[in-house]
Amino acid sequence: MKLVLLGPPGAGKGTQAARLKEKYRIPQLSTGDMLRAAIAAGTSAGKRIKAIVDKGGLVPDETVVRIIAERIAEPDAKSGFILDGFPRTVPQAEALDKLLESKNAGLDIVIELEVDDAALLERIAKRARETLACGGTVRADDNPEAFKVRLAAYHAQTAPLSEYYAKKGLLTAVDGMAPPEIVAKSIEQVLEAGALQVR
Ligand code: ADP
Repeated sequence: MKLVLLGPPGAGKGTQAARLKEKYRIPQLSTGDMLRAAIAAGTSAGKRIKAIVDKGGLVPDETVVRIIAERIAEPDAKSGFILDGFPRTVPQAEALDKLLESKNAGLDIVIELEVDDAALLERIAKRARETLACGGTVRADDNPEAFKVRLAAYHAQTAPLSEYYAKKGLLTAVDGMAPPEIVAKSIEQVLEAGALQVR
């Protein structure tokens, strides 16, 4: 199964992708995690990426497309994967289509988690408070200023992907405002309903 989880920052894509990874035994490919690993490696490329991510901006398409192309080529992604945080722009989605076409494959389904902006802002503030309370380090891009930039990038560049995938007949929207277990149930229902078509 080749699945894309779409939705705004803080919608719960990572949480749901992690559950799906366990259930379907396919890898979760999160460009956010991959970029944070590149940043942690401290290379010059990592430093350039950090400057963009910390402010809430989007890393150039060619960078993330290259990272994803390499990751998808690995053996564990052969039978399927869950993309979380990619694609985030129409050119990224087009590049993904080409990449999969070249392997005679295609996406099976795109699930969009719908959460309104006010709830997202609240969730991020709560996540930061909880991380601090446990003595952890808050993500540099989880401050209100960077988060507003991330939301704006989402509305301007990622939201058009809903139409892109709807036109291809791949999109299903799920209410992401509910608690994580309820969202997980809705996603399972969607996947079970589509099970006959899903490779
Ligand atoms: P969230 O979905 O909560 O914004 P992510 O971990 O998916 O968090 O992404 C964190 C940051 O990494 C983004 O704000 C952006 O700077 C960068 N990033 C992740 N994926 C992409 C992508 N596909 N294209 C461009 N930038 C990306």
